[in-house]
Amino acid sequence: MSTLPAMPSINNNALEVCDVTLDYTSHGKITRAVERVSFVIPTGQRLVLMGHSGCGKSTLLKAVGGFLQATEGHIKVYGRPVQAPGPDRMIIWQDLDQLLPWKTIEANVAYPLLLAGASKTDAKDRALYWIHKVGLDRALGQYPHQLSGGMKQRVAIARGFAAKPAVLLMDEPFSALDALTRHQLQDELIALQEESNITLLFVSHDAAEAIRIGQYILVLSPHPGRVKALLHNNKPGNEIEEQLHTLLFESH
Ligand code: ADP
Repeated sequence: MSTLPAMPSINNNALEVCDVTLDYTSHGKITRAVERVSFVIPTGQRLVLMGHSGCGKSTLLKAVGGFLQATEGHIKVYGRPVQAPGPDRMIIWQDLDQLLPWKTIEANVAYPLLLAGASKTDAKDRALYWIHKVGLDRALGQYPHQLSGGMKQRVAIARGFAAKPAVLLMDEPFSALDALTRHQLQDELIALQEESNITLLFVSHDAAEAIRIGQYILVLSPHPGRVKALLHNNKPGNEIEEQLHTLLFESH
């Protein structure tokens, strides 16, 4: 079960995580959250990090985001070592309040583009394009508190895609939404990702969501998080579901 199938393409990897170990230190105590995890994501592919709560999914995502330094190993984006956060790795969080509350929807999407050096015209054009793509033209001039949870996450998605990151990182972005909205947003996300060919690293603890979104599913085991299996999601749905279920619920 734990054999790792080879992933395609070596030279075209957007993200490379190589033998990464991640520790937290607090009050002199070291907690090893992730141990010797390796995977790659070829350009334009979607990989879901999957596993029980506490298995290090968010920790890995934060390390790719540049918020945590690896104790051992390295993380590279198109061959460049990750050392700090940057606009080449936009993150969409679970939190429904990740938008800037004092800025309009249009300004929220344009803001990272302006920070990254885009001209006002370019930032506006790209913001309008992506706000349109997520179906929120009517909300352009509104503020985050005027939107539903699903609309806020759509804005976060527009902001993420508009920045054209090398890798888009998503940490359980739909888990605070109702089931219907969650399913809609999963489908919309896949359509936008396929159209834009942006590489996606997505964290989920939900097997159905992982199967819907991931072309690859990396299953982690907990304490510390280690790679249990890498599944290529190209088999019939029930087969991959059974495989995932066995991996998640067999003894660690
Ligand atoms: P997941 O996202 O899979 O639920 P996390 O990455 O949040 O798991 O956590 C992995 C492990 O690291 C857990 O044992 C958790 O308690 C620990 N951990 C997470 N954040 C911190 C922190 N800031 N300080 C110390 N330990 C942490």
